[in-house]
Amino acid sequence: AKEDGRGVSRFYTAELRNAANLGVRLEEDLRDAIDKGELSLAYQPLVDPTDNRVKCFEALMRWEHPHEGTISPGVFIPIAEKSELILILGEWALRQACRDAAQWPDHIHVAVNVSARQFMQADMPKLVSSALRSSSLAASRLELEVTESVFVGGVEAVDQTFDRLDRLGVRLAMDDFGTGYSSLGYLKRAPFKKIKIDQSFVQGCTESGDTNPAIISAVVALAKALGMQTVAEGVEAMDELALVRERGADLIQGYIYSPPLTQDQILTKFADGDWILKADG
Ligand code: C2E
Ligand code: CA
Ligand code: CA
Ligand code: CA
Repeated sequence: AKEDGRGVSRFYTAELRNAANLGVRLEEDLRDAIDKGELSLAYQPLVDPTDNRVKCFEALMRWEHPHEGTISPGVFIPIAEKSELILILGEWALRQACRDAAQWPDHIHVAVNVSARQFMQADMPKLVSSALRSSSLAASRLELEVTESVFVGGVEAVDQTFDRLDRLGVRLAMDDFGTGYSSLGYLKRAPFKKIKIDQSFVQGCTESGDTNPAIISAVVALAKALGMQTVAEGVEAMDELALVRERGADLIQGYIYSPPLTQDQILTKFADGDWILKADG
């Protein structure tokens, strides 16, 4: 490696180069991952805390890399989002999630993450209806989770998509609420049914002097005023569960109820038809 004369170490530049190489290598590997069967979906329950019943499962992508081991979607989704690769992964996840959910009882929904780039494709609603048709999943059982980043181009850019999805009968959820480009005005104009309160507001919310409970209450009040449900994400401890319930969150997602599960685990665990979980911290 070349020294820049200001004492930047050889090691440091080599590290950086390796990190960049790894990104490029992962992107190449990711292109083949679907065909090689290395991608899968894990499903994490969203639970109604008043009766501990599972209402929905969120589909979360998993990648078992042949050499690097399990790679987190927090790492590979941003890589995929740099190119049209995210469209391929996104379509795969949508179709797979619909097929899996079709095997669950009729009252259980499935939530699929849709990246902004994917959401802004003109034929996105067509893809959704195709996935529903080929899986025979009722549109009302599909929820699409989008983040505030879908609004970067203004609400006009995605207005038609919202409309078409609404007419299809699928539900929309606002994910990671409060962490990105928030605009309350946009919230009002888009047909969201759910707001997901990001786990950064939930974790540590029971520590004294923490301002997160105030934020949680404000988001719950806003959602109620707009006729939307709230989901508290990343609930890990009993005292956090008690707090978000007390503040009015409608649904709970977090390790307190369950980590993400495989489709096989779901079908086995709930084989007796009892879709009830226990909170244990
Ligand atoms: P997200 O949509 O906010 O998903 C929730 C994340 O929180 C998941 O991480 C989940 O495993 C984790 N989580 C759930 N409960 C708890 C808890 O109690 N404590 C803690 N510490 N974490 C909890 P995961 O599976 O690693 O996914 C990370 C992110 O990757 C997702 O965040 C989402 O933004 C993205 N992602 C995952 N799958 C897909 C996908 O199919 N498409 C797209 N576009 N993005 C995806
Ligand atoms: Ca999500
Ligand atoms: Ca989230
Ligand atoms: Ca997140």
